[in-house]
Amino acid sequence: MAKIKAVTVHGGHNPSGRIACGASDYIDESREDRIITKKVVRLLKKNGIKAYDCTVNNGTSQRDVLKKICAKCNSKVRDIDISIHFNASDHQRVPDGKTTGTEVWVRDTSAVKGEVARRICNQIAKVGFKNRGVKTTSDLWFLNKTKKPALLIEVCFVSDPDDAILYKKHKDDIAKAIVQAVINYNRVH
Ligand SMILES: [Zn+2]
Repeated sequence: MAKIKAVTVHGGHNPSGRIACGASDYIDESREDRIITKKVVRLLKKNGIKAYDCTVNNGTSQRDVLKKICAKCNSKVRDIDISIHFNASDHQRVPDGKTTGTEVWVRDTSAVKGEVARRICNQIAKVGFKNRGVKTTSDLWFLNKTKKPALLIEVCFVSDPDDAILYKKHKDDIAKAIVQAVINYNRVH
């Protein structure tokens, strides 16, 4: 496949406090997915890659948010679609020095999406998060309904204080890690 010349990025849920907003614990998913999205869009552009923020702020349900996100993504001329999420599990009361970590979801690991997903996991792991790796599913609406290769990044866990501590120190590094994965992909294609 050719180089990645254009990318859409979005925060995966409605805004904080509304219906269909993201998870909230040590990290507020909806607030932070937008922060990471903006940083990634800015950095992609800085590196000569077209980037569009396809975040949706007016969904009436989770399905409606997803429909609107996919419609926005599909309206753009682009090579890949990236969704920014944060994971959630049981609330961990105290830090234990170990993050729960990062993972990236794709429909399958073929071609560009598998390679970029793996690169993103590896780059975010370099920031210090446990690398949970690339995971596949045919059950995520966003991955099924965009017409281009789609990746869903679960940056780290909102429910783990170790993840939150590391995340808060390294927001810029996480955005850089995602963009570096795209740049490194382009270097070898
Ligand atoms: Zn989410």
